[in-house]
Amino acid sequence: MKKSDRKIVYDKYDGHCAYCGCELQKGWHVDELFPVCRNFKYNKEKTKFVHDGTCKYPERLHIDNQMPSCPSCNINKHSLSLEGFRLLIQNFIISLNRDSTQYKIAKRYGLIYEIDKPVIFYFEQKLK
Ligand SMILES: [Zn+2]
Repeated sequence: MKKSDRKIVYDKYDGHCAYCGCELQKGWHVDELFPVCRNFKYNKEKTKFVHDGTCKYPERLHIDNQMPSCPSCNINKHSLSLEGFRLLIQNFIISLNRDSTQYKIAKRYGLIYEIDKPVIFYFEQKLK
């Protein structure tokens, strides 16, 4: 990606992650809002799957579809749709209550207060 295009993506939300709204730090990611679904192949030498340079929807590799993202949001969203990503985050409360002893104890001691509200992404708030 050209440095000038990266700057355009960075400026879309004034240096904030389009999803969580945090200020972007060095090493921020460019996410595709509508996922490109990169193809991976198993590399025996590296003993892991590596991107093979192709993707299912190459037409989505366009600046209009690219969002500035913090690494955490980009990695968690991976190839999910926006609604899939929203559902993933909404379900974090379910998995924390089911799987995290530390979360459950902190909640019991009143250190965590859950709020039933929809997940609204930073760029969606900016649209209002
Ligand atoms: Zn983020």
